[in-house]
Amino acid sequence: MSHSNTFDLIVIGAGSGGIAASRRAAAHGARVLLIEGTRIGGTCVLRGCIPKKLMMYASEMRGCFADAGAFGWSEVSADFDIGRWTQAKDRELNRLEGVYRQMLESSGVHTLLGHARLAGERAVEANGQRYLAERILIATGGAPSTTGIPGLDLAWTSDDVLQLTELPRSLLVIGAGYIAVEFASILSQFGVQVTMAYRAERPLRGFDEDLRQHAAQALEARGVALHAGVRAQELVRTAHGFELRRADAAALSADAVLNATGRRPNVGNLGLDTVRIATDAAGAIPVDADSRTAARGIWAIGDVTNRVNLTPVAIAEGRAFADTEFGGRPARVSHDNVASAVFCSPPIATIGMTEAQAMERGPTDVYVSRFRPMKKAFVGSQEQTFMKLIVERGSGRVTGIHMLGADAPEIIQGLAIALSAGATKQDFDRTMAMHPTSAEEFVLMREPARRHG
Ligand code: FAD
Repeated sequence: MSHSNTFDLIVIGAGSGGIAASRRAAAHGARVLLIEGTRIGGTCVLRGCIPKKLMMYASEMRGCFADAGAFGWSEVSADFDIGRWTQAKDRELNRLEGVYRQMLESSGVHTLLGHARLAGERAVEANGQRYLAERILIATGGAPSTTGIPGLDLAWTSDDVLQLTELPRSLLVIGAGYIAVEFASILSQFGVQVTMAYRAERPLRGFDEDLRQHAAQALEARGVALHAGVRAQELVRTAHGFELRRADAAALSADAVLNATGRRPNVGNLGLDTVRIATDAAGAIPVDADSRTAARGIWAIGDVTNRVNLTPVAIAEGRAFADTEFGGRPARVSHDNVASAVFCSPPIATIGMTEAQAMERGPTDVYVSRFRPMKKAFVGSQEQTFMKLIVERGSGRVTGIHMLGADAPEIIQGLAIALSAGATKQDFDRTMAMHPTSAEEFVLMREPARRHG
């Protein structure tokens, strides 16, 4: 074994977590090999957050064009060509991939393209070569799950929707998580007739119930047909498109189908058996609070561990690992109070406890504000903004903040600092409003809408 095949750290997967961990470890002086099976950047940059948000921007322009007349504009042209969007998006992703490549290079990280496979506690194989390291980090992320319903593999996944060159006339979205809601909302604004089918009573399981209700209303207001409580039996191809056969009622049909039923960790052909790592019921690699797996010298971070499957969490876990193992600065990631957004229209953002969770913990006051935002009221739209603060009565601490409305993710990111710092309702009350904004409503909530306990 030559010295050139021996490293301090081998990272498998150049996505959000793997890139962050590699760069941080290299900054601490480690000799790092990063092995990637496809392209540098991972899900977030190439198949997730970034292209999804660029698509959301494209879809939001429809609303601008529609409202422009009421603000005095005329002759606003509004033809959308998804093929042009896809080309422009691909150019941008190529640029970003180049930026990541450059950053890795300038950090001194050795990068290798090829599928990596564990070959023992200190060995990884790729492209027929064997590489050795004292420490190995698995950051292989996840991919759409296609096994929940027979025939589901016929459907598009989010990867396919981000590559469209033509829009279907109608689309059936199976699932109701944040990815399902985002694409249903985006495509409906492109003029596609969208139907959503899901098992639960409402979309966005795990989110605050009021947000779920407002999200369902907002989707319906955009023309999305919602089918709740659907027990799907089979997806079949028909002469005109697809049919989702239901256990209980008539089939749902559409020109195209998006499978947004969930994601599975990428552990295929990873050689986990060679190091005796067993995956859990969700197919994820179990880890402790320091991201250690059951095998000595092997850690795992990000979506492959199925903790909180978001980019900033994968990055934080990667950096905490590198700081602890190579920087002499032990660090741990808290998975509490992780803010998250749903980029539907209007968008949703949330941090902390839902009303139901807070009520279980103890006496809780709930403050709510619901109004037609100025920009939408002006054009005669009935679109609503919804805001909610959850307050622990004893301490006065704000323990949950939820919003559906324009700029919600930008607003909640700021308020997330207040919540993390332990701000109380009084702190909110003595904060001067910034006028005229929607965000000011968060510091102008006087009386609780509900008191629990
Ligand atoms: P990934 O980014 O998935 O990277 C894993 C990498 O490992 C990939 O490049 C893969 O090719 C590589 N790999 C896998 N197996 C091997 C192997 N054996 N050998 C070599 N390489 C391998 N998160 C947010 O925070 N905000 C959002 O708005 C958001 N939107 C999303 C929208 C969509 C449609 C999707 C699908 C996801 C979205 N996410 C969002 C989630 C986010 O993308 C993930 O949480 C994040 O990318 C996880 O990072 P990771 O490092 O764990 O894995």
